[in-house]
Amino acid sequence: MRIARFTTGEDPQYGVVTGDLDEHGQLGEDAVIVALAGDPLYVGVKLLEQEHRLEDVRFLAPVLPRSKVVGIGRNYAKHAAELGNDVPSEPLMFLKPNTSVVGPGDPVFHPRQTQDLQYEGELAVVIGRICRDVPPEKATDVIHGYTIANDVTARDLQRSDDQWTRAKGFDSFCPLGPWVETDLDPQAFADGVRVRTYLNGDVVQDGSTADMIFDVPTLVAHVSSVMTLLPGDVILTGTPEGVGRMHVGDEVEVAIDGLGALTNTIKER
Ligand code: MG
Repeated sequence: MRIARFTTGEDPQYGVVTGDLDEHGQLGEDAVIVALAGDPLYVGVKLLEQEHRLEDVRFLAPVLPRSKVVGIGRNYAKHAAELGNDVPSEPLMFLKPNTSVVGPGDPVFHPRQTQDLQYEGELAVVIGRICRDVPPEKATDVIHGYTIANDVTARDLQRSDDQWTRAKGFDSFCPLGPWVETDLDPQAFADGVRVRTYLNGDVVQDGSTADMIFDVPTLVAHVSSVMTLLPGDVILTGTPEGVGRMHVGDEVEVAIDGLGALTNTIKER
């Protein structure tokens, strides 16, 4: 099930998106969104008799992280190598504030403090319930679903600061969407799911979640051994090789098989 958050111009609502994705992760013209009563994370999925055509709605970030977005650094060996880093011996965690989250189609603002704004296309895990010390074999019990993320990074500030809070934490540095897919299990595919990033239409990243150093259950276990996770919290699972610079005016799209595509443009702050 694809659960989106959307607006028709009124208060935001949740809804279930119907229809099949084509090879580019786009929905056909027959797709609709069926509205839900309340937030499904808290009240379950309660369908309303209210349907909208996609052209009549604007998608919003599908989840508002209640407390945090946890990022994982250097979780793909070739990406660690391209930035001259070793592979960590255990997951390397950082935080992005929930104020960095924006939705599909929203602008990513280029801060004046950086000369090296970069995209990082990533699979994002959405936590479904309060949990702590989750063993890897129980991780799927606490996962609500998956969405797509762009872990936008000011690379020069990441290099100059010991802590990554500034480099990762500007407003609009965490586009999420277009919806949360509750049925996908990336662990179920031996070859993983494909993560691709397009910059102005050109493929710049093309990786597979099978190449993660630490898989999703390991990440959930590791993060929850440090901090309590709340419903709506998000874990970004790291980016494949091919990161690069974005400029004002660029369009960046992250596409993940079975999830769809997340597109944002870079705007001057
Ligand atoms: Mg990242």
